[in-house]
Amino acid sequence: MCIVEMDPKSRLEKLTKQAEEISIDLSIPSKRYVRSCIEIARMGDTYYSELNYEHAYVLYMKFLVLTLEKLRNHPDFRFLPHGDLQKCKDLAKDIFPKVEKLKELLNKQFEEEYLRWYENEDKKLEAEREMKRQEEEKIRRREQEKRDAKGNVKLPPTPPTLPYNSLIIEPVKIPDNIIYDEPEKGLPSESMQAMTGLSESDRDLNWSNDKGEEKVKKLVAGARPDVNRALKPSTGPLTAEQNENSNTLGLKSLWIPNSLINRFIDIAEKNTLRNIETCGVLAGKLGFGKFVCSHLIIPEQTGTSDSCVTLKEENIFEVQDKNQLLTLGWIHTHPTQSCFLSSVDLHTQCSYQLLMPEAVALVCAIKCDELGCFRLTDLGIQEVAKCQLSGFHYHSNNPPTYLEATNVKFDPDIPLFVIDLRK
Ligand SMILES: [Zn+2]
Ligand SMILES: [Zn+2]
Repeated sequence: MCIVEMDPKSRLEKLTKQAEEISIDLSIPSKRYVRSCIEIARMGDTYYSELNYEHAYVLYMKFLVLTLEKLRNHPDFRFLPHGDLQKCKDLAKDIFPKVEKLKELLNKQFEEEYLRWYENEDKKLEAEREMKRQEEEKIRRREQEKRDAKGNVKLPPTPPTLPYNSLIIEPVKIPDNIIYDEPEKGLPSESMQAMTGLSESDRDLNWSNDKGEEKVKKLVAGARPDVNRALKPSTGPLTAEQNENSNTLGLKSLWIPNSLINRFIDIAEKNTLRNIETCGVLAGKLGFGKFVCSHLIIPEQTGTSDSCVTLKEENIFEVQDKNQLLTLGWIHTHPTQSCFLSSVDLHTQCSYQLLMPEAVALVCAIKCDELGCFRLTDLGIQEVAKCQLSGFHYHSNNPPTYLEATNVKFDPDIPLFVIDLRK
């Protein structure tokens, strides 16, 4: 059944149910969920300002379900700092009236779409009936003519038929985006500057890294970096596409500046030479149905040859709040190891992806000059989210727990802003 065929009430209920399906992983600290809630509200605001009411409604509902219900059952909820709780309360206060308004707008939109569909179906049925009637009439006439040829029986008068043209039904055009008179905010400018939130002076235009470029020219071959397919998890019954289609509203594309990879490898070089991993956070904005990564944030961290731990996460959050940035994934080096996600990486990626389905794990395997862009599969998410183990442990890859992230696209024209929080 096409979504438009659903009666408006069920359609809204379906959206609400979709929002309620959000589940939380109790091993992820509630503080991180608060961050996620703030980002969900931020994305909801973007959709609301773009008049994309369905997406805005789902995200706002997710925010409410998380903050008012799910998070309260988290074991460390009562240890949340007062400031975090207050932030959620303030946002909820703002979101409640918006959700009520969205319900009205969506009901109206769904009713109109349903009515158009119904009218169109009715016309189609009528046309089919008329065609059938004409067909039968033709057969009847032919038979009569045959009988006439044998005997000389007169035809009874036939009812008048409609001219053929009157049976052609004009398809009803449903506008992609029905606009109601409710925008509180204007549409953001379409320019990349508006998307990335960077002014000319913000951008690090003086960056040059011929050295890094040369060293990893294999990593960024053209617009799309090479990914070592030999080291990919074996192909199971689940393809990347199937994995992505699990979300009713679809997985959005994530655009990453080409320069990010070389820039990160250069920043990590000192550690890499000492065989120590380095990690960074990918942050950016949502606009017109796609995510654009504009910021690479290097947090305070400690690392070893096969691990890297972020310290003082609150400093990352501060940068993100200041620039209204969403968390879009993470990047880390494997100084000597090959290009893959370790079990520790799987758990880290799971925590990102549970909060943001589009989030990606970029792995720069320096020694073998390879770049991996990975996402967990739906099965991987299920498996890792319920896994209580920490440190390095075994996760089967058949069916695959992660695959190449097909929603990631590289663009040479996106400006990159690097914020290094290390002392
Ligand atoms: Zn790793
Ligand atoms: Zn595990």
